[in-house]
Amino acid sequence: MKALINIDYTNDFVADDGSLTCGAPGQAIHDALLTLTKTFVEAGDFVVFAIDRHTQNDPFHPETRLFPPHNIEGTKGRALFGELQAYYHAIQGAANVYYTDKSRYSAFHGTNLETRLRERGITEVHLVGVCTDICVLHTAVDAYNKGFQIVVHRDAVASFDQAGHAWALSHFENVLGARVI
Ligand code: ZN
Repeated sequence: MKALINIDYTNDFVADDGSLTCGAPGQAIHDALLTLTKTFVEAGDFVVFAIDRHTQNDPFHPETRLFPPHNIEGTKGRALFGELQAYYHAIQGAANVYYTDKSRYSAFHGTNLETRLRERGITEVHLVGVCTDICVLHTAVDAYNKGFQIVVHRDAVASFDQAGHAWALSHFENVLGARVI
């Protein structure tokens, strides 16, 4: 059994005016990411939206001193980017669709994602979203350590850092044993 994990494809990470945006490379994966999401949903496969959530100026969060404020609870910046937002609203509540807030880079950290995957007998996770070398990478590392097979869709991941993007793609394949397709 397989699942698709959609990571952080929000306005703040993708839109031109997003506070921590990947910009054009992030926008360029919109159609591929949306199509893959629809394919998984329509096939009845488990589809997860794992979305960063912060509160303004949280003094206890390590990202507060690393990055400008982003994905603040209740803001437009935290809504999904482009057509993904409307599509998510259309499928929200379906038995195979699951949305989880996350507060760290990895979709596994501090969430019940692993339980949701295990109870469905899922052994293979497909990763899409942003940023390739931050949240997608950290999610892949945790998936590897937990024994999941990993598939990364190269046309549906992006970063603001092209060198980091390329490095992460090779790391997925050569160090985490992922299929990069
Ligand atoms: Zn964050």
